[in-house]
Amino acid sequence: MAPGPPTPGVLGEYRVVERDDGSEQVEAHMEFIELAIQQASLAQPIASAFSVGSILVSGRQIIATGYSRELPGNTHAAQCAIEKAQATPLGHLVCGSTLYTTMEPCSFRLSKNIPCSSHIIEAGISIVVIGVKEPLTFSECQGVARLREAGVNIIHMKLLEEECLQPNIHLLKP
Ligand SMILES: [Zn+2]
Repeated sequence: MAPGPPTPGVLGEYRVVERDDGSEQVEAHMEFIELAIQQASLAQPIASAFSVGSILVSGRQIIATGYSRELPGNTHAAQCAIEKAQATPLGHLVCGSTLYTTMEPCSFRLSKNIPCSSHIIEAGISIVVIGVKEPLTFSECQGVARLREAGVNIIHMKLLEEECLQPNIHLLKP
């Protein structure tokens, strides 16, 4: 499943999954997005940022988990998962791995911290499976576009969008 690191200059695919066809692949995507939602629910809700959860997977093996603000320094979920994986003996598996994340990775941070899309590209992650696009609450996120430009393939799992938004209900317009 993991074809190795992305090829810069080759636009990454964007695939939408809107139907549970019972295939092993869709079932696996559902399972890992559900685990990512569990991670998101561990984040302390705040008024100035989303609560996101991430799972980093190599083949079928989970190599790290992460959630918003898990590590010190105003961190984001994808960033935490990547940094945690890189700090373990499984760190060599990060390049070419698949990142499951409840929300589209950020492309810009007001705080001037490095955005998640940059962490993902730098780490050589080849596939990003997102649960939902980032809502327009704070900014217009260009995460998917940036990742695709770097050759990262995107799978948008639309089957669990409400569940992915649930930890952020306080930030969404009625
Ligand atoms: Zn981020």
